[in-house]
Amino acid sequence: MDFTLNDEQRLFRDTLRDFVDREIVPVARDWEASGRYPTEIVEGMKQLGLFGLAVPEEHGGLGADTVSFALAFEEISRGWMGIAGILGSHSVSCFMLARHGTEEQKAKYLPELATGQRRTGIALTEPGAGTDLQGILTTARRDGDDYVINGTKMWITNARHADPLPVLVKTDPGASPAHRGMSILLVDADTPGLEVTRDIGKLGYKGTESCEVVLTDVRVPSSQLLGGVEGRGMQQALSSLETGRINIAARSVGIAQRAYEEALGYARDRTAFGQPIGDFQAVQLRIAEIAVRLQSARLMTYWAASRMDDGVRMDTESGMAKIFASEQALACATDAMRIHGGYGYSTEFEVERLYRDAPLMSIGEGTNDVLRGVVAKALLAGKATLR
Ligand SMILES: Cc1cc2nc3c(=O)[nH]c(=O)nc-3n(C[C@H](O)[C@H](O)[C@H](O)COP(=O)(O)OP(=O)(O)OC[C@H]3O[C@@H](n4cnc5c(N)ncnc54)[C@H](O)[C@@H]3O)c2cc1C
Repeated sequence: MDFTLNDEQRLFRDTLRDFVDREIVPVARDWEASGRYPTEIVEGMKQLGLFGLAVPEEHGGLGADTVSFALAFEEISRGWMGIAGILGSHSVSCFMLARHGTEEQKAKYLPELATGQRRTGIALTEPGAGTDLQGILTTARRDGDDYVINGTKMWITNARHADPLPVLVKTDPGASPAHRGMSILLVDADTPGLEVTRDIGKLGYKGTESCEVVLTDVRVPSSQLLGGVEGRGMQQALSSLETGRINIAARSVGIAQRAYEEALGYARDRTAFGQPIGDFQAVQLRIAEIAVRLQSARLMTYWAASRMDDGVRMDTESGMAKIFASEQALACATDAMRIHGGYGYSTEFEVERLYRDAPLMSIGEGTNDVLRGVVAKALLAGKATLR
């Protein structure tokens, strides 16, 4: 059993770690507080080829293995989880296009998405439907060789930068079961009727925008139907969320790693009663607990990622890793905050941001409670084995 990274993965991780320490860590707190868009960091990520993480090499991307993919999200989130959001939904969408797009769609979009010249996101959620995607109300009516889309999407990450924006719609609103009438349409940013109507205020996950998007009589040619066949939209979206869950698990590990580093540093430096607080057993217990949670979340995330690299179907594994790692991130951020005492509640210390960013990990790419149901059903049906 070998738990070590190979040379290529280690080099990739070290390059990213260096980038994060140089370009993200020094500015994260101020830029987050001011709401400034991290344009320079985006440019740096383009130079590193990170927008091509999920784009196959033949289309100009890195075609990264899944463990390297996880390492990228871990390292960036150690610096600032909001930045990982810029790459996250972009990568889910690239993965979906590469896996399900027609040859024309891949040739049209993937090379520019790989360099970051174009960016993307994914528009599934609506004001009245998140988990229950079959309950969406957005429709696309066929009109000659076009589709005409009407509806509202909610919480769309990267909405102001996405071109194209893949949108989940009902092409046959009367279909039963509903997913048979659902499709994905690739909507170019300059299409008339597509409007980003507002940025939604958030607890954390700043640095990337999450928006409401309204589509009013948006007309797209039928060549923009993902894969060229109606009725596959749910399956296309859900299969792409498999990698999305690895990305959220890895972001959670990054948050937990930073919580560990901040807690350790503070416990060494802060004194009380004439000694470093790290000498108190109560603080030591919390540090040990953070370390155990962090390392177990990391191993589980790499395990799920490496299963995917083995070509094994891994929606159960990625779901388990996402559930576990996200719960650890929240616990680690909370413990690190407690170790900081009153300063943990100050916006001048990093742990405060970790504490605000961590909860999203239990919501995004399927809430943990919903995923628990998915994992249990797969296990009960004998579709997944754990050994
Ligand atoms: C910051 C942020 C960014 C986001 N970015 C995107 C994006 O880029 N694109 C996009 O499409 N969406 C995005 N989302 C939406 C996100 O995917 C949804 O919020 C998530 O899927 C949950 O859906 P919901 O909010 O409608 O909650 P609901 O589905 O209404 O769930 C509410 C509660 O009910 C529980 N619940 C619901 N159904 C079940 C069930 N069957 N069994 C057990 N419990 C259940 C849930 O666990 C939860 O506790 C984003 C959300 C946030 C907060």
